[in-house]
Amino acid sequence: MKFRRKPKILRGLASSAVNHASAFAPAIFAATIAVIVVYVATNWRLERSLADERSAVAGELATISSRLQTNLNSNVKLLQGLAAGIAVNPTMDQNTFSKLAAEILQPDSQLRSFAAAPGMVVKWVYPEKGNEKAIGLDYRTNEKQRDSAMLARNTHNIVLAGPVDLIQGGTAFVVRCPVYINDRTSQIFWGLVSGIVDIPRLYQDSGLGSTDLEIAISDVSEPRLAKQVFLGDLETFSKNPVVTSVDMTYGRWTLVAVPKDGWGQKSGMATFELYACLLSLCVVAPIVWVGFLTKSRQRTIEKLRLHKKKLVRARQRLEYLSLHDSLTGLPNRRFIDRMISQSPSPGSENCLILIHIDLDRFKEINDTKGHAGGDIVLQAAASRLVNLAGPNDVAARIGGDEFIFASWSAHPAPRATELAHQIVDTLKQPVFVDGSECVVGASVGVAWETERAQRNPSQLRLNADLALYEAKKTGRGRAAVFTEELRSAAIHTKELAAEFNHALDRDELVAFFQPQFHAETLDIAGVETLARWDHPQKGLLAPDKFLAVAENLGRSGDMDRLILQKALFELARWDSLGMRIPRVSVNISARRLAQANLLAELSKLPMAKGRLCFELLETISFDDLQPVLNEIIPAVKELGIEIEIDDFGTGHASIVSLLRFEPRRLKIDREIINPIVTSPSQRRLVSSIIEIGRSQNIDIVAEGVETMKHAKILRELGCHLLQGYALARPMSSKQLIEFCRTKDKQLKEVG
Ligand code: C2E
Ligand code: CA
Ligand code: CA
Repeated sequence: MKFRRKPKILRGLASSAVNHASAFAPAIFAATIAVIVVYVATNWRLERSLADERSAVAGELATISSRLQTNLNSNVKLLQGLAAGIAVNPTMDQNTFSKLAAEILQPDSQLRSFAAAPGMVVKWVYPEKGNEKAIGLDYRTNEKQRDSAMLARNTHNIVLAGPVDLIQGGTAFVVRCPVYINDRTSQIFWGLVSGIVDIPRLYQDSGLGSTDLEIAISDVSEPRLAKQVFLGDLETFSKNPVVTSVDMTYGRWTLVAVPKDGWGQKSGMATFELYACLLSLCVVAPIVWVGFLTKSRQRTIEKLRLHKKKLVRARQRLEYLSLHDSLTGLPNRRFIDRMISQSPSPGSENCLILIHIDLDRFKEINDTKGHAGGDIVLQAAASRLVNLAGPNDVAARIGGDEFIFASWSAHPAPRATELAHQIVDTLKQPVFVDGSECVVGASVGVAWETERAQRNPSQLRLNADLALYEAKKTGRGRAAVFTEELRSAAIHTKELAAEFNHALDRDELVAFFQPQFHAETLDIAGVETLARWDHPQKGLLAPDKFLAVAENLGRSGDMDRLILQKALFELARWDSLGMRIPRVSVNISARRLAQANLLAELSKLPMAKGRLCFELLETISFDDLQPVLNEIIPAVKELGIEIEIDDFGTGHASIVSLLRFEPRRLKIDREIINPIVTSPSQRRLVSSIIEIGRSQNIDIVAEGVETMKHAKILRELGCHLLQGYALARPMSSKQLIEFCRTKDKQLKEVG
C-alpha cells in the first residue's frame, strides 16, 4: 500500500511548529497560570482593601454624622428651651428676651443668635448687636425664608432650613421652632423662634473640618442638582460613596463620603502588583529560558540532522561517481568487481557468466576522428550493450575500449554463447561519427561458472580475459569461449615466460645455423642463424615455442643481440678453421630495429664488411615504421650490413615501399615455395618475383626447399639462392663444421 506523503515543505513547517509549541509549552502554561494567579490575587486584594477602606470611611462618616446630629439636636434643644420660655411669658420685652437668650445660649453651642418673631415678624433678636437688621423681618413676605417659616407654623414642628442667606449678612442654618400658647381650650400660634446655627462652627465641631474625606451633604437622598447639595459637590454622590444619614425629627440629611484621593489609592496596589509580577517573572523566566534552551537544542539537532542528510547525499553521489563511468554512465570496473565478488546473484541458483569485450578498431577511429569521435563510439557501444541487458544482466565499462557484460543464468552455456553472438553482432553495426559510417567491431571472451558452489569471481575474470586474448589471436570480430586447454596453455606460457627470463641470464639460448646455397652450383653462399633454447628439462626448443614469450616480455631485442654476438663469434671461429662461409644472416625483430642504441652497438662489433646480413620480416610493418627505418636502414647498410626481406609474399607491405630500402635480397616465403612442384600458377608467381628482383638487381632466395625437385625448379626459374631441408637443416656450429667437411659427399647422395 502506498501512502501519499505531505509535501516536504509542509512537513518541515508542521514539524517546526510542533517543535516551537513543544519547546515553549511549559513556559506558555506557566505564564498563563501566573497571569491568572496575579489577576485573581490582585482582584481579591483589591476587593479586600476596598471593603476595608469603605468600612473605615463608613466609620469616620458615622462619627461625623452622629456628631452632626448631636450638635444639631443640642442646638434645637436650646432653641426649644427658649421657645418654652417665651410660651410662658409671651409678652416679654427685648430685655427679658435677651436675658433669657443669654442664659440659654451656651458658649460651646453652635448657635450664633436667636430671633423671636411673634406673628411671623421678627421683633426681638439676641445678641442685638449685628443682628439689628433682622428686626422687622416678616417671614410671610420674605421669599427666602417664607417656606420654612410657614412649614414650621403649619406642621407645629421644628424646621431646619438652610443654608439661608441672612438679612443681617452671611449664611447659616436656621432652626425654626413654632411657639404656641396654651389657653384652656386650644393652642394659639404665637409666632416663631429662630436660631441661627453657625455653619463653619457646626461643621468644625462635628469633625468635618479635620477629615481626609471628601464629604457631601444634601437634604434629599438622591440629589440631582448642585443646589440640593449644601456641603461638598454633587459629583461626590456619583463616586460610589459611603452613604449615611442624619435623621432628625425636623428633617433628614444624606451624607456621602469618599476618600479625598478616590477609592483604592491607599491600598498599595501598584506595589502588590509589582511584587506579584516579579514573583511570576521569577517562575516564568526560568521556564522560558529552559524553553529557549530546548528550542536552540532542537535547532542544533535539526541542523545536525540536515547536515547529516547532506553528508549522506554527498557520500551517495561520490559513491555513485566512484562506481560509474562518467562518459557512458555505465558501471565501472570497481562496480563490477564488487558486484561479482559479492554475488550470490539475482536468483541464487543461477550461474554467473562474464563476457569480456574489446573494441577492435577503436584506436584507429580515435586516431582518425579524434577523441570526440572516440567518445561517440564508446557511448554507442555502451547503449547497445545496455539494450541487450535483461533484468539479470549488467554491462560495465572497465576502461579504454573494454567492457564487461555480466549475466546470471540457470543454463549458462547456451545463454553465454547466445549473448556473445548478440554482442559481436550488435557491435558490428556501423556507428555514425561526423556523418560518416564507422565499423568498429569487437572481440569477446566468454567464461561462466560451471558449478554454483565453487564460485571464484576473480578466476572467472581471468578466464574471460584468456578467452578474449584467444579471440583476438584468431582475428577481429570473433567470440572465444574459455576452455581448460586455454588455461593450461596460459599457465604454460606464464611458466615459460618466467623461465625465458632466466634463460637469457643463464645463457641457455644457442645459435643454430642453416646453410644457404647457390642454386647453380650448390656451393654454400651463407648461413642463416636461428635461435634455439636449450631448455634444461624440455631439451632443445624451436622459436615457435618461445618467440611470442620473448616478444611479450619485451626481450626479443635482447635475444637478437645475443644471437648476433654468437653468430659473429662462430663466423670468426669458422674463418679460423679455414671454412669458407661467405656470409652469416641473423633475424631481426622490429623491437630490435627500434632500439635506440642499435647503431652504437653495431659499430663496436668486429665484422667484415658484406659478411653480415639482417633478415627483416616482411610482416614488420614497414609502412608504420617507415620514419624510423628511413634513418636506421641506410645507417645499417653504411656499416656494411646487408638487408634481406624475409618471408616475402606473406606480408602486406607494398612492394614499392620495400624496394625503396634497396634490400640486397628478397627471400620468398616457404608457403609460396612449397606448392611450386604441383602448381604452375605458384611457379609463375615465383617467376615474377624473380623477375622483379632481377630488374632491381636484387637477389632472390627461396626458403623451404624441401625436395631436390623444388631445387631444380627454382634453379630453372632463375632463383639465386636456396635454403631448405632438402639441402640442409638448421644445425649447431659444431654440426655445421662437420657438414661443411662432408657437404659435397652428402649433397651428392641426396642429389
Ligand atoms: P625464418 O626466418 O623463416 O626461418 C626459417 C625457418 O624455416 C626456420 O624455423 C627453419 O627451421 C625453417 N625451415 C628451414 N628449411 C625448411 C624447410 O625445408 N621446410 C620447412 N617446413 N621449414 C624449414 P625455425 O628455426 O623454427 O625459426 C622460425 C622462425 O623464428 C624464423 O623463421 C624466424 O622468423 C624466427 N627466428 C628464428 N631465430 C630468430 C632470432 O634469432 N631472432 C628473431 N627475431 N627471430 C628468429
Ligand atoms: Ca629468416
Ligand atoms: Ca623465412
